[in-house]
Amino acid sequence: MATTDNSVNGMTEHCEDCELDTLHEVSVQIRTESRKEENAQFSREPYRVAECQRCGNRTSQRMNNA
Ligand SMILES: [Zn+2]
Repeated sequence: MATTDNSVNGMTEHCEDCELDTLHEVSVQIRTESRKEENAQFSREPYRVAECQRCGNRTSQRMNNA
């Protein structure tokens, strides 16, 4: 399997579900998206994933805006 770069740390961020600033576990995931189109090029997209430690709500956002 591909190596995933997982670094975890806690950050206080606003949670939309809790409507509070709560502790979030933040990690970065590299998702490899293979595209079957003409160029067999792998696109590796870093996603920032934050999980609320209070309610478990997860939000992920792409870090690269292409
Ligand atoms: Zn929450």
